[in-house]
Amino acid sequence: MEVPVGGLRLPVAGNKNVNVRGESMNCYDCPDIIAPAVAVCRRCGAAVCREHAHVSHVQVQDVIGTGRATHDQPLRHITCLTCRTAEAS
Ligand SMILES: [Zn+2]
Ligand SMILES: [Zn+2]
Repeated sequence: MEVPVGGLRLPVAGNKNVNVRGESMNCYDCPDIIAPAVAVCRRCGAAVCREHAHVSHVQVQDVIGTGRATHDQPLRHITCLTCRTAEAS
């Protein structure tokens, strides 16, 4: 669903899975189907769909002087299935 314009491939309006160069980002972990990616694994950088994205929340600590400060709010931590399995092993 792309319109050729002077050698460039422009996305059709409304297709949010296509960037300005006409490239789409699909899930790395979907084996047989083309699923639009909604996130990027923070460990390996693989793009993943909503089904394969594992979302967790972790506390953040910063080194302050000679000690540590734990922030009140946890941050969002998105990983792919492979990295989630590795983190839990
Ligand atoms: Zn997927
Ligand atoms: Zn990963």
